[in-house]
Amino acid sequence: MSKTILVVHAHPDDIEFLCAGTVAALARAGHNVVLATMSAGDCGSAAHDAHEIARMRVGEAANAAALINSRYFYLGFKDMSIFSDHPSRQRVTEFIRAIRPDIVLTSSPEDYMPDHEATSALVRDACFSAALPNYVTGEANPAASIPEIPALYFMDPLGGVDRNGVEVIPDFVVDIESTFDLKIAMLMEHKSQRDWLRIRHGLENYISNMQKWTRDRGALAGLRIGEGFRRYKGHPYPQDPRLEELVGKALHRPFPNATVASEVVAGDSVSSDTKAEEATTENT
Ligand SMILES: [Zn+2]
Repeated sequence: MSKTILVVHAHPDDIEFLCAGTVAALARAGHNVVLATMSAGDCGSAAHDAHEIARMRVGEAANAAALINSRYFYLGFKDMSIFSDHPSRQRVTEFIRAIRPDIVLTSSPEDYMPDHEATSALVRDACFSAALPNYVTGEANPAASIPEIPALYFMDPLGGVDRNGVEVIPDFVVDIESTFDLKIAMLMEHKSQRDWLRIRHGLENYISNMQKWTRDRGALAGLRIGEGFRRYKGHPYPQDPRLEELVGKALHRPFPNATVASEVVAGDSVSSDTKAEEATTENT
């Protein structure tokens, strides 16, 4: 039976970097995959002003989503201005209620920069409040509460370590061999980021950097390439292996004491209006 899978990260291209191979496979299998970013990446440029780069990057993210026939939304936050506070939780809760996901994938709770960590906390808590009928989002025409909390999974942190440099080992690694071409094609849609990352982070090759990262994650489980995930264990979130079952034979467990010293440098940046806006290739 087809599931609805909502994927939320902070900035355009985070999803492509961290989990596009897995979500492309889920979309190919007939599931309803919805991609969203909190911001439009308005700080991701030294050559364009915030409004201009945000417009460009929303278009790039929508183009990437279109490659797997997914819808893309951005939620109206600005870079470095994502906080887990009441109005933000209301906004994310309203969005989750509108999408009504069975499974949610979001950023790692520990990561190299605050937007990623705030996104993780906001999505985690909005999954909870979305199922509370008495939680009010303040929308004029609010979506109905959802019948149960969706199953929640975290992507890897960019770089694979927390703020203390401690490696974050995923619960499972998904073999993305069958969709790696799509993952590359999706990342290549983020054309504005190639120059930015070279100037800001010294990354000469945006795509090869992702390829190295993906090899490092795959190596944790003896795979050529892979993407890692952790299931959120908190009560009362669902603990059935919902994503694991959808992934099926592509799922592999990391080796005991798996370790990898990734040299991947996260290079994000990261827009806005006050309301979630659907961005499709038709309208952006
Ligand atoms: Zn990011």
